[in-house]
Amino acid sequence: MGVFILLLSLGGFGRDSSKVFAFSPRKLYEGLEKLSEQLPKMWWDRRCLAPFRPQDITALLAPNLPITIKLQASEETLSFVVPVRGALNSGFGFRWGWQFHYGLDIDLHWGDTVVAAMDGEVRLAGYDPGGYGYYCVIAHPNGLETVYGHFSRLLVTPETQVKAGQPIGLGGSTGLSTGPHLHFEVRFLGEPIDVSALIDFPNGQLLERELHLSRETFGHLKTLRNAVYHTVRPGECLSVIARRYRVSVGYLCRLNGLSPRSVLRVGQRLRIR
Ligand SMILES: [Zn+2]
Repeated sequence: MGVFILLLSLGGFGRDSSKVFAFSPRKLYEGLEKLSEQLPKMWWDRRCLAPFRPQDITALLAPNLPITIKLQASEETLSFVVPVRGALNSGFGFRWGWQFHYGLDIDLHWGDTVVAAMDGEVRLAGYDPGGYGYYCVIAHPNGLETVYGHFSRLLVTPETQVKAGQPIGLGGSTGLSTGPHLHFEVRFLGEPIDVSALIDFPNGQLLERELHLSRETFGHLKTLRNAVYHTVRPGECLSVIARRYRVSVGYLCRLNGLSPRSVLRVGQRLRIR
């Protein structure tokens, strides 16, 4: 019952938060209940993106018992709005072989208005020069957080109460970015989730009204934990590295988006597993 009661009593989401709250206490696993004591700290931290991130979130989820989080209900109290319409130009997962992308990149034009995906409170807003650029993090009463990055301008500050669809920033390319786009993340307990199957970004539509969180949702964490990388040293080519790790050149190419003729740079990172 712990998480259920605590989230309801956190306040700050207005009187209607009980209507939109979506956890079912019966479905909470014992391990997750233990986290309830940490949740207030996590939700109201104003310094850190993920102040409380479990070491292994999959261990906190009961097998075969997904947690259902509502993104949209029939009542108007809960509605998901796509933050910006545009093509999805980079998905969730490994890219360039070794780098794991924890969000979705949506194409936009410089200055386009980006809106809050759901009602909530801005937990963090600021500037991260080496990463998100101008960004904000919104905590939502359904237990999720959304992260928005690379704005040219921020329109909210921490503690701002926002409604779904309310402008929160203008599109840009600040931080670690090569062109104007929105970096959008959905997080549960600080852990990013792939929501690409739930949202049609080009048409601005939510495809599923509920998000089911299970151990499978976080399957990528196991892949990441077991991943092996290699940094290219002078004189090394694909065949030398493949031999060293007892894998084929074709396998290395597939994993890293290379062709067998690719010339490697010294210092380049390759994923081996
Ligand atoms: Zn991104």
